[in-house]
Amino acid sequence: MPIYEYECKKCGNNFEKLIFNIKDTSITCPDCGAKQVKRLLSTARVIGGGIQNCVPRPGPAKGFS
Ligand SMILES: [Zn+2]
Repeated sequence: MPIYEYECKKCGNNFEKLIFNIKDTSITCPDCGAKQVKRLLSTARVIGGGIQNCVPRPGPAKGFS
């Protein structure tokens, strides 16, 4: 299930919404209720994704001595 991030053009609020139908145009800002929202495509992600697992863990700085 894709989650899309939206930005309200009216108040600048950033919010995420679960989109079942990509053609759904009834998205409104949860903050001010404006319908002038912009979808930020680049931030689309999927619930249950293991993105966190890809983050390298900070380890002790060894070597290069
Ligand atoms: Zn708003």
